[in-house]
Amino acid sequence: MDMHTQQEKASILLIYTGGTIGMIENPETGELESINFQHLKDNMPELKKLGYSVATIQFDPPMDSSEMGPDSWMKIVKIIADNYQKYDGFVVLHGTDTMSYTASALSFMLENLSKPVILTGSQLPIGMLRTDGKENLITAIEIAAAKENGLPLVPEVCIFFENDLLRGYHPVSRKPLKPHYLLDRNIAILKLFPGISPQVVESILNIPGLKGVVMETFGSGNAPCEEWFLNMLKEAVDRGIVIVNVTQCRAGSVEMHRYETGHKLLEAGVTSGFDSTTESAVTKLMFLFGHGLTPDEVKEHMNCSLIGEVSIPETFRP
Ligand code: ASP
Repeated sequence: MDMHTQQEKASILLIYTGGTIGMIENPETGELESINFQHLKDNMPELKKLGYSVATIQFDPPMDSSEMGPDSWMKIVKIIADNYQKYDGFVVLHGTDTMSYTASALSFMLENLSKPVILTGSQLPIGMLRTDGKENLITAIEIAAAKENGLPLVPEVCIFFENDLLRGYHPVSRKPLKPHYLLDRNIAILKLFPGISPQVVESILNIPGLKGVVMETFGSGNAPCEEWFLNMLKEAVDRGIVIVNVTQCRAGSVEMHRYETGHKLLEAGVTSGFDSTTESAVTKLMFLFGHGLTPDEVKEHMNCSLIGEVSIPETFRP
């Protein structure tokens, strides 16, 4: 790992994990290749103009985000926890492919976070003409450094991309940061589609060691009412597998009381994921099972918001 510091003012730690933003185009092959991010940063006069103190740590070797998972999330959490007191905010440079999973995972893993952790990346390498990387990086740093009355303005895990700040989960306490490193990978995603066969559903629900399934359903949480399907779900729930219902729609919430099809899922023992994203449901299940919770305890936690990841109507609160 490579560390370097610029001048005074707000102090930001830039964690370069990999991804397009820090790559250059190989002039011979045209392929994008990773290079030393520190070198790129040193050649960005715009950063110096900001006047912040920006240090960098980089993954060695940098990772394409399609290769990231629990181990790399733990690595990011450890870097933030080890450097938490030294910096006002953190910018995580990350490939775009799985950035949303990392953001969700970090939100659960960084309990009591009270400083900004801003993830960003880009579609074009930072050294290319008309790159979106410079804009994304500069603004992410500004957001990480922004304060109001001496307190961080955005003290949460966020994604900044293309002029949008996707705000994360609002911290509720002022207790010291509690980093978590326990995640259980025995989770699967079951994406429904019209005509899905019993073999597909059966093979997913019978994965050895499986503990949780995020089932992506239609509309407001609906699925086929066929008997084989409901029986397979019920049988898996009876074996202690937690099945969480999230919608394939880009927005909106699961409402299993709304249609008969949704209601049948409820009767089969499926748990509502309300308006949580697939990324949030997957990483929350990894987090809860990683902490040794029983299936019933996991279900109970899926029915409440840990960090603001679901907007749960009052009547559903346990
Ligand atoms: N494949 C790259 C990654 O996710 C794409 C990107 O950086 O946007 O790491």
